[in-house]
Amino acid sequence: MNGLYLRRAAALLLVGLLAASGAHAAATFVVVNRDGPGEGFNDATPWTPTGGNPATTLGQARLNAFQYAADLWGALVQSSVPIRVSARMDPLTCTPTGAVLGQAGTNTVHRGFTGALLANTWYPQALANALAGFDVANQQDDIGATFNSALNGDAGCLGGAGWYYGFDGNPPGSDIDFVTVVLHEIGHGLGFQTFVDLATGAKLSGFNDMFMVHIERAPAVPPDYPSMSDAERVAAAASDPALRWTGVAASYMAAQVTLTAGLNGEHVRLHAPGTLQPGSSVSHWSTSVSPNELMEPVLTSPMHDPGLAKFLLLDIGWPMDASVGVVWRDLRATVAGGAVQLTWRCEADEPIVGFRVYREHAGKTGQELLSGERALDLGTRSFVDRRPPTGASLLYTVAAVRPDGSELHAPQVAATVAAVGLVLAQNRPNPFNAATEVDFVLDRDAAVRLRVHDAAGRLVRTLVDEVRTAGAHTAFWDGRDGSGRSVASGAYVCRLEAGASVRVVRMTLLK
Ligand SMILES: [Zn+2]
Repeated sequence: MNGLYLRRAAALLLVGLLAASGAHAAATFVVVNRDGPGEGFNDATPWTPTGGNPATTLGQARLNAFQYAADLWGALVQSSVPIRVSARMDPLTCTPTGAVLGQAGTNTVHRGFTGALLANTWYPQALANALAGFDVANQQDDIGATFNSALNGDAGCLGGAGWYYGFDGNPPGSDIDFVTVVLHEIGHGLGFQTFVDLATGAKLSGFNDMFMVHIERAPAVPPDYPSMSDAERVAAAASDPALRWTGVAASYMAAQVTLTAGLNGEHVRLHAPGTLQPGSSVSHWSTSVSPNELMEPVLTSPMHDPGLAKFLLLDIGWPMDASVGVVWRDLRATVAGGAVQLTWRCEADEPIVGFRVYREHAGKTGQELLSGERALDLGTRSFVDRRPPTGASLLYTVAAVRPDGSELHAPQVAATVAAVGLVLAQNRPNPFNAATEVDFVLDRDAAVRLRVHDAAGRLVRTLVDEVRTAGAHTAFWDGRDGSGRSVASGAYVCRLEAGASVRVVRMTLLK
C-alpha cells in the first residue's frame, strides 16, 4: 500500500515538501463499493449537488467522484478486461497539520502469464489482465483503495478540512479534492509501485517487478536497482537525489515538458529521502519535481491529469490510447461573473498547431464547438465562455489540434454556473422626453449586457457590455442610437442579460 499525504502549515494547503472523461474509454473501470451499510460510500446524509457532481446523498457523491477519477484513467490505459477497484472509507492517520489522504495498491501480483513482456518479473493484476487479454485473477478486484474518513470537518484533522466531491477541481477554502486523490491512488494500483520490501531491500519472492527494472541510482555501481544487493537497495531508497527513473517514455517526456526541477541528468528523480518513509519512498516522483506532478507523495493542489505518470505506466508495459503523448497542466474551469474561464498549459511529444474548446451539457448528447472553426493559436492558455447556460452541469473539453486537423483531448473539466439573480427596474421617468435612467441589481458579479431595442426588435443602442460587480447599478440613456442620432418617439424595449438570465422592461419616448 502506498499512501498520499498532506502536510499543512496553518490552515493553508501544503508545504514543507511539495507535492501533490475522455469520450472514448480505452478501459472500463468498475468501482466496487466495500463499505458497510450507512457509512462511507453508503452514507445517506443529504448532499447538495456541487461542482458538476449531481448526487443528492453523501455516499453517492463519493461514488460519483470516484468513478469520475477512474474514468480519467479509463480514457488512457487500454484493457479488454474491466479494471475492478474496491473502495472504502476508513479512519486513517490525521492530525491538525498532516493526514494520510488515501492509500492503494494492486491486490495480487502475477508473472509468467501469456503476454508478459519480461519473464520472471512481477506485474500488478490490472496490467497482467491487460497484457494477457483475459482475467488472470479470476474476477477478483484488481486494486484496493482506502480513503481517510477522518477528514470530515473535525478541527483535530487538518484544522477542520473536508473532502471536496465536485468534478471541477475547485475545492473551496482548505478542502481536499477527492478526484485528485483517487486519481493518485489508482495510479499506484495500476503499477506506480515497487513490490520490493524497502526495509530489507528484498525482492518479492526473489523476483524483479516491472517498476523496479526501470530504476537506477546514479552515480553508483552497480547502478541498476535489480542488480543491487538487498543492502544496496536499502541504501538506494534513501539516496536523494540519486534515485531516478530510466524508462524511455517518461524520460523522453520529461525533456519535452521542460521540468524546471526534479531531474537527475535526463531522468526524473524518484522519492528517496534520507530517512525511509514506508509507503512513500521509491514509489513516487521526487517532491522536488517542478512543475508539480500528480504522483508526488504530498498533495499540493488539485490535478486531474496524471502527467508524467502516464509515461511511467507506458514504460512498465501499459497499452495506451494515442492521446497519451500530451501532458496537460493547470487545466481548470473557473466560474466568475457568470462566465466560465478555462485555463491550460499543454506540452506534447508531437507537433501541435492550436487548440479547440468544446462544451457539453451533462446528460445531453453532443458537444458544441465554442472556439470557432479556426483553431486557437498555439500560444493560447485560456478561453472564456462568456454566456454559458446556467443551472446545468457543463463539461468542457480542450483539444490540441494536430497539423492534419485531428485532435488530442484533455481530460474534461466540469463547471456549473448558478443563475444570476437579476432585478431590472422600470425606467424613470417613463414616459420620457430626451433622456431616462434605468436601475438594475445583481446578486453577484456578472458579465452584463444592457441594450435598447426598438419595437421591431432592432438593436438601437448598447448601454452596458462588461462585467459589473454585485449590487445596484444605474444606466443612462440619452435617447440616441449607436451613431448619436436622436431616435423617434415610440415604444422601446430595454433588455438586461447576465449569464443566461434575462429581464426586460418597456419604455416610451414621447417628444
Ligand atoms: Zn502515493
